[in-house]
Amino acid sequence: MSAEIADVRQVQGYCSLCIARCGTVATVVDGRFARLDPDPTHPTGAAICAKGRAAPELVYHKDRLKHPLRRTRPKGDPDPGWEEISWDAALDQTAAAMRRIAEQYGPEAVAFSQSSPSTTAIADSGAFLTRLMNAFGTPNLVSALELCGWGRGFATRYVFGVGSVATGSAGGAMADIAESGCLILWGYNPSFSRITHATATVAGLKRGMKLIVIDPRNVGLANKADVWLRVRPGTDGALALGLASTMIERGWYDEEFVRAWSNGPLLVRSDTDRLLKAEHLASAGGSGQFVAWDTVSNSVVTYDPAAGRYQAPGGHLALRGEYKVATVDGTVSCRPVFDRYAELCKRYSPEVIEATCWIPPGQLEQAARTIWQSRPVSYYAWSGHEHHANSTETARAMAMLYALTGSFDVAGGNVLFAAVPAASIAGEELPAARRIVPAIGFNERPLGPARFHHVSTRDFYRAVLEGVPYPVRGLIGFGSNLLLAQGDPVRGRTALAALDFYAHADLFMTPTAALADIVLPVASCFEREALKIGFEISEEAQSLVQLRQAIVAPPGEARSDTELIFGLAASLGLGEHFWNGDVDAAYRQQLGPSGISLNRLRAEPAGLRRPLTTRHMKHTVSDEKGNPRGFPTPSRKIEFWSETFLDRGYPPCRILLSRQSARLRAPTWLPPSR
Ligand code: SF4
Repeated sequence: MSAEIADVRQVQGYCSLCIARCGTVATVVDGRFARLDPDPTHPTGAAICAKGRAAPELVYHKDRLKHPLRRTRPKGDPDPGWEEISWDAALDQTAAAMRRIAEQYGPEAVAFSQSSPSTTAIADSGAFLTRLMNAFGTPNLVSALELCGWGRGFATRYVFGVGSVATGSAGGAMADIAESGCLILWGYNPSFSRITHATATVAGLKRGMKLIVIDPRNVGLANKADVWLRVRPGTDGALALGLASTMIERGWYDEEFVRAWSNGPLLVRSDTDRLLKAEHLASAGGSGQFVAWDTVSNSVVTYDPAAGRYQAPGGHLALRGEYKVATVDGTVSCRPVFDRYAELCKRYSPEVIEATCWIPPGQLEQAARTIWQSRPVSYYAWSGHEHHANSTETARAMAMLYALTGSFDVAGGNVLFAAVPAASIAGEELPAARRIVPAIGFNERPLGPARFHHVSTRDFYRAVLEGVPYPVRGLIGFGSNLLLAQGDPVRGRTALAALDFYAHADLFMTPTAALADIVLPVASCFEREALKIGFEISEEAQSLVQLRQAIVAPPGEARSDTELIFGLAASLGLGEHFWNGDVDAAYRQQLGPSGISLNRLRAEPAGLRRPLTTRHMKHTVSDEKGNPRGFPTPSRKIEFWSETFLDRGYPPCRILLSRQSARLRAPTWLPPSR
């Protein structure tokens, strides 16, 4: 009897279970997914984590959902009476319920929910999900953004005009670790969460890069750091201002960069606490223009944000001091924005920081000096600084501190790396998207997540149970386990049970899914194709385009989220907006500007490269009118002062401690940080 030779197959791809998207090689033995290993030829393939190594356990778990299910008993009944139904029936019933609700209350009465793209594989289908919402006409995506992602991903827009200034997600800037003189890891432990960054950091340390770790715990790379700041949880914003205070006091900041590229020189009226406008000058300047003080001519100069230019070259603009300006309201005392910012920072003296953040003055100074003397500086900030009620102010304070270094978009700083050109498929141009109403929560917090169509569970539950600000009667869930991942599960349970209709797609039956009317089985990321255009780690990684192959078939009738979305769109009569059900046609459209063909990509599981060259300091490049491009903020400058905030009733420049952190006491059981 001869021993049978196993059929062993290896498939290059990437793990999609979290945002790291590690390059991998899957081994399939006799048709069975046996193991997942790192792919050292892939730019994110230096290593994989325990979750990735356990991928086969996820794929073959006995509790995987395998068939579409329909509830046959009331939601209060302990037995839902799940009944297997066909995909066609499940999608048709879901589409019919969505249409029914939209006809009665408007399409916004159907909300969607999704799991975190940072910690699950939903990003494989995220753009298609957004497209479905746009095609249907609802702005309401219940996500965990207010808990995780808002500060690092969105709040930095109010300083740089760019989201994800420190993380690189969704077109943001990435820490150019390979060229950095100093890297700051702020509330971020890549040894656990993004191994590619950890290995790049260790390589940087070997060539002499300085490392500052800001974390309450001595974890990950903290023991390799030149400075480990053991910050009191919730006080990161105060620490940012304290570091800035030391840097400003010592002259450790890039004054020319601040003068040229921030709104630091613009004058603030002391009588109204608003930026002085040129049209209010006694000499009456242009409408919509602002005013700075020229220290050579000892007079005002105007600034036109539309052109991003001062009336005179800006080399002598005042950043500090107080100036009397003749206006139509008489003589008004004014100070530059930067002077107001410096005044705010000064309140966070080393003594205040020691009492507030538990950072000794010597350490604060050491960190500030390291930041200044080891430029270019890059920083990577993750969720550690976000889980507090002051997340927006914290992220702004950190971004302003970073602006002082002048390292933004220079080699070794946080760089807007070039990206492979690709077509957007999010569907903002679709007819229903143009009629979309504001998301729930927008009226109360117009600058927060709802502005970007992300809805908190608190607001979602209120809309379901109280109809405020308008009724929400349906939910289409993609893997989001609201009851376990979000607060107030009792109210959440009541709200989910009160919906007219709820369909939920997932790998497993969860407590949240158990409240659905229809449950749809989803293929894991190892059982479906997905297109990835660029890996947000470095320029080299950005140049890689990969069509990940399915390693094995999904269990039972499970389908990918993408197939589900395309199928639901067809059932809703929206198939024409979804390439008439042809996913490949969608990928081809996405890839069009890249010049990469889908067939070639499919034939190369390791992916194809589209060489990129990053141009640094893009804010200095001229636009089509010959004006400096600047930053995508209202002032076209980095904003130390936000009139956008003032217009919505928020202070333009401040930082508050969160109430939670104010209650914390200094730990007596921890050894002092180094
Ligand atoms: S860090 Fe782990 S879970 Fe995340 S992509 Fe890499 S292997 Fe997968």
